[in-house]
Amino acid sequence: MSTEVIDPKSLDRHECSACGYVYEPIKGDDRRNIPAGTPFEDLPPSWRCPVCGVPTSKFQNVGPLNSPSGFKENLGYGFGVNTLTPGQKNLLIFGGLILVFLLFLSLYGLQ
Ligand SMILES: [Zn+2]
Repeated sequence: MSTEVIDPKSLDRHECSACGYVYEPIKGDDRRNIPAGTPFEDLPPSWRCPVCGVPTSKFQNVGPLNSPSGFKENLGYGFGVNTLTPGQKNLLIFGGLILVFLLFLSLYGLQ
């Protein structure tokens, strides 16, 4: 029994050197029936870049998705709310999102 559970976020992404398309293991490739969570190394040999059609040998490893500069961290530091508790931060972030959502709703309502 060697059922290994791999976190797709820890898998390396690969960028097409010809067109810049990035294969993300977390998403897979819908158009070629590659299920989400498939490592680049496990792609079938027949797999090609969905954008420009070059083979896997033209792809470069660009590392996993979870880099140190995550979106959430930036959001927190950007607004200078480091002194807030996580609960307060969440309230601030989600409260802001809800405000923006309501604003959009009211804009659409006016049209
Ligand atoms: Zn390409």
